[in-house]
Amino acid sequence: MTFEKIKLFLEKIAPLVGVDENQLTIIATPNKILEAELEVNGKKYPAYRVQHNNSRGPYKGGIRYHPGVDLDEVQSLAFWMSLKTAVADVPLGGGKGGITVNPKELSNDELQELSRQWVRAFYKHIGPTKDIPAPDVYTTPQMMAWMMDEYETLIGEKAPGVITGKPLAVGGSLVRDIATALGGVYVLEEAVGKINLIEKTVAIQGFGNAGMNAAKLLVEHGYKIVAVSDSKGGIYNASGLDIDSVIKTKSETKSVVNYADAEKVSNEEILKLGVSVLVPSALENVITVENAAEIKAKIILELANGPTTPEADEILHQNGVLVLPDILANAGGVTVSYFEWVQNNTGLYWKADEVKERLKEKMVVAFDKIWAEYSGKEYDFRTATYILAIKKILEAEKVRGRV
Ligand code: GLU
Repeated sequence: MTFEKIKLFLEKIAPLVGVDENQLTIIATPNKILEAELEVNGKKYPAYRVQHNNSRGPYKGGIRYHPGVDLDEVQSLAFWMSLKTAVADVPLGGGKGGITVNPKELSNDELQELSRQWVRAFYKHIGPTKDIPAPDVYTTPQMMAWMMDEYETLIGEKAPGVITGKPLAVGGSLVRDIATALGGVYVLEEAVGKINLIEKTVAIQGFGNAGMNAAKLLVEHGYKIVAVSDSKGGIYNASGLDIDSVIKTKSETKSVVNYADAEKVSNEEILKLGVSVLVPSALENVITVENAAEIKAKIILELANGPTTPEADEILHQNGVLVLPDILANAGGVTVSYFEWVQNNTGLYWKADEVKERLKEKMVVAFDKIWAEYSGKEYDFRTATYILAIKKILEAEKVRGRV
């Protein structure tokens, strides 16, 4: 979503938050924009870090490797991170990074070189008390380990809290690998309880870290996954997909479309299936004015960042679809990143059950607060979420004497 669209949405909801134009500008404007050009084997790659807001703590947010990455996208994603850390109530701000690259076209050695170069370009601006990156689309724990290693080499000391989403061998946290999906499941369970959803059929658009783990966890929680898709297309089986076999097909053939026991559906059709829960888990702008009116799901769980455009949101709200917005639905990732950073800072590592319990508490409290704000109001659940998040950031700005 373009940053311009975010600003328009902010202007629309400003009266509900009770903010003036000056305060709105502070909320929308990133503190710092960092850009660099990286070069591996003669090919050049634009690279970014946008530090959006740090009034509540060090900047926090992932690094995305994708051919579609540009400054506008990174800026939008950085803004959402500031809101997300406020929603999850973790003492961190918001930032985001990226490299315009298709990582599938690079060798392992090239990816290592690219990751180390990103750190060499920006290392003076990151650090455990400054700005803490993490994985995002197409970035992995291995890349986080290379980045941490490069950072520690440059500064000449250990600093595991500089980056999260690391492998366990170098200070990662248990549960971080499934945290985005697990947090989403906790939020969904709360929402399902509120609207008394009886039928529990699910379609998942996107089968990366978030989508695949959500499929596994939702099956464990008694949901029936009838459709999934990845960038090559989708599959549908009304009696439910065998998720373990779908995962096997994906890892062996690189796509879910090669799974035999299902009908093929397009990436567009998967959004319009007659399911009760739709889980967009890939990229931005998939639910738009073009398809919003045809969505049959009762609940949309946004595991992706920015999958729904503001215009589509209005249609969904009119049609009574409950959209659990990205800055709540996928906040499990950054929440366990926060736990990882706490463990790195204290040197004391937690058991998986402890991480899960703390994550559940954070997600349920966040959901309850937003539900209370949303109940009985004219506006939608996303607006209620934004109102609380923006108020929280403004409060920090105010007590710091910045506004
Ligand atoms: N990239 C994830 C997100 O968009 C995780 C960020 C983090 O763990 O810092 O929320």
